[in-house]
Amino acid sequence: MTLPVLLMLLHDASGVVSVDEQDPSAPQVSVLDLGVTRGDGIFESIGVIDGRAQALEPHLARLAKSAAMLDLPAPDLDVWRAAILRSIELAGSATVGSELLVKVILTRGIEDGDSATGWVYCFDAGHYDREREAGIAVVTLDRGYRSDVAETSPWLLQGAKTLSYAINKAALREAARRGADDVIFVSTDGFVLEGPNSTVIALIDGAYVTTPPSLGVLEGTTQGAFFADAQARGASVEYRAFTVDELRGADALWLASSGRQIAPVVTLDGQPVSADPAFTAGAVERLLAR
Ligand code: PLP
Repeated sequence: MTLPVLLMLLHDASGVVSVDEQDPSAPQVSVLDLGVTRGDGIFESIGVIDGRAQALEPHLARLAKSAAMLDLPAPDLDVWRAAILRSIELAGSATVGSELLVKVILTRGIEDGDSATGWVYCFDAGHYDREREAGIAVVTLDRGYRSDVAETSPWLLQGAKTLSYAINKAALREAARRGADDVIFVSTDGFVLEGPNSTVIALIDGAYVTTPPSLGVLEGTTQGAFFADAQARGASVEYRAFTVDELRGADALWLASSGRQIAPVVTLDGQPVSADPAFTAGAVERLLAR
């Protein structure tokens, strides 16, 4: 089988009625689909290393959480799990020695209809070696929200992985205009949030620190695996709100996400950040091997 692989999950009002392999180069989604016309849907991107889906259960749990936040019908996780694994199986020899991604999409379906739209798409994720090894230049950008909006304004859907990533992409273009590779969003009240498609990990006073989901950020599956590995090696990890000043004073910084695993931040708003290439290389190796 050649990549990409596409499985369409056909829904009726009661849920998924069939999972069918389809031609990924042929049109599959209606122009009336709310995922297309309004970005009204959710997704996950799951790393597949050498044929192994990474953090499958945390990704499925986050899919269910996002669905609940958007009042979408609860996805039948057994059906979605089986479809994800089948797409990897269909990729066959293309999985050997490779880094793939499986993108999982669930939309509200056609306007005024009563069934969702869903698909699973397995493709070659490209190469992340450069950013893992050379590191990335990052700028902080104001997200324009306070750190408590997840509590005060749940309709902003902060912490759901929605298809509405136009803002995240605009932030990345702003980073490029500033000569940087990536972004760390900060809240209007001065707390570190997340990247447009990554979780922030900071080494502060000897502990690995990340922002808790209560501040309206996604619970990162890669950061979760990094923390589990760090703890198993005797290091301290903390989920806590931390400020932009603490970010600037951190001993090391990484952005974590399913495709790239972790990439060290080498400059923050143009200022150098210290890095430990040997530690990062070891951590990437352990993350790839999980
Ligand atoms: N935060 C946001 C906004 C993201 O889009 C992502 C990536 O999907 C992450 C964090 C990192 O999550 P994960 O490590 O599960 O890919």
